Amino acid sequence: MAESSTYDVAVVGAGVFGSWTAWHLAKRKLKVLVLDAYGAAHARASSGGETRIIRMSYAADEIYTRWSQQSLTQWKELSAACSQPLFQQTGVLWLEGPDDLRLRESQATIERCGIPHEVMDNAALTKRYPQVNFDGVSRGLLEPGSGVLLAHRAVQSVMEEAKKKHAEFLIAHAITPDGGGTISKLATSHCGAFSAGQFVFACGPWLGKVFPELLGQRIFPTRQEVFFFGTPAGDARFAPPALPTWLFNNDEVYGMPDIESRGLKMARDAHGERVDPDTQSRIVSAEGAEWARKYVGRRFPPLKDAPIVETRVCQYENTSNGDFLIDRHPEMPNVWLAGGGSGHGFKHGPALGEYLAARICGEGKAEPRFSLASKATKQKRAVF
Ligand SMILES: Cc1cc2nc3c(=O)[nH]c(=O)nc-3n(C[C@H](O)[C@H](O)[C@H](O)COP(=O)(O)OP(=O)(O)OC[C@H]3O[C@@H](n4cnc5c(N)ncnc54)[C@H](O)[C@@H]3O)c2cc1C
Repeated sequence: MAESSTYDVAVVGAGVFGSWTAWHLAKRKLKVLVLDAYGAAHARASSGGETRIIRMSYAADEIYTRWSQQSLTQWKELSAACSQPLFQQTGVLWLEGPDDLRLRESQATIERCGIPHEVMDNAALTKRYPQVNFDGVSRGLLEPGSGVLLAHRAVQSVMEEAKKKHAEFLIAHAITPDGGGTISKLATSHCGAFSAGQFVFACGPWLGKVFPELLGQRIFPTRQEVFFFGTPAGDARFAPPALPTWLFNNDEVYGMPDIESRGLKMARDAHGERVDPDTQSRIVSAEGAEWARKYVGRRFPPLKDAPIVETRVCQYENTSNGDFLIDRHPEMPNVWLAGGGSGHGFKHGPALGEYLAARICGEGKAEPRFSLASKATKQKRAVF
């Protein structure tokens, strides 16, 4: 393709962050181009899975509670606009062991934000969900209004809606601009170059490859394995409304009920080994599968012999502490960096896109927690 007309903003990356940023920019009537090397929410992208949790509980991190609230409203609006059930209100149950400080902090925050919830002790949990083993759990916090987003389908819908607002989309691999100062053109490996006033690199786990010197040691892509267990024939105990989405925080394991008949989903939230998102194997490990079987058998006894019916391997793109990265490139003032979703970013796509679109348009205040300066080169997770 030959060199094209000038855009107001070129967005590299059509994951959840890039797509919502493009949507908000297009809503502001800016001329937007989105490039992705493989496609919107493709199989290797962090946004590429079937489902993602949207919850409001973030302990004392109220900024993320408020972004989740804002985002859920926008996800529901998107769902209505494209007539697709992109959000499923399963309820989300956050479970803590003897030290339930984070649960108490979440409760205080969501109370302040006016979010409906219910707290249950071990006996109440066992009575309400007899199909689950709550050993070691002291209390659970249920958010009945939260649930699950149909991840890759939702991102593809955001892109479709952005296109209706005249954003353009192209499969193309962007080449990192070199040198410093204001840049005017973005080269691609096979599709020529594109001119724009501002550039957004929303490259998720690829950010460290795109800007190796700046971000190679600040974004930690880690391997995460996901399992789906087949539920017994005719048994509705593992589907909503009988089972909500759940997080056993002490065990660092989360999952969700049977959505769209794929089975019970479970995954470890603990960070896996460092990986390359282009080349890592997408086949789960034998050890991971064995661990998942044992875990499901313990926490969901009727699923003790349930078969694994589907698997996925994805990657988190962690910052040092779990706070997002949304900032200008320090040497290229019209280049923006957006990423560091750190295993919890999906739900926040709409709020992040709105924030970044405002910043690009010279509005809004910069949030220090999202700054590049706050991103260290050693991992010390603080946001869950
Ligand atoms: C297993 C798993 C479970 C998760 N669970 C949850 C959850 O329950 N709730 C939640 O809120 N979050 C969850 N997350 C986190 C969330 O999914 C991610 O934080 C989020 O999807 C990151 O989106 P992104 O747009 O930054 O990255 P991506 O979706 O990876 O998008 C980046 C895009 O940039 C493109 N790109 C990169 N380099 C270039 C280039 N040079 N040229 C062109 N294109 C390029 C890539 O092709 C890619 O499409 C989970 C993540 C994983 C892996």
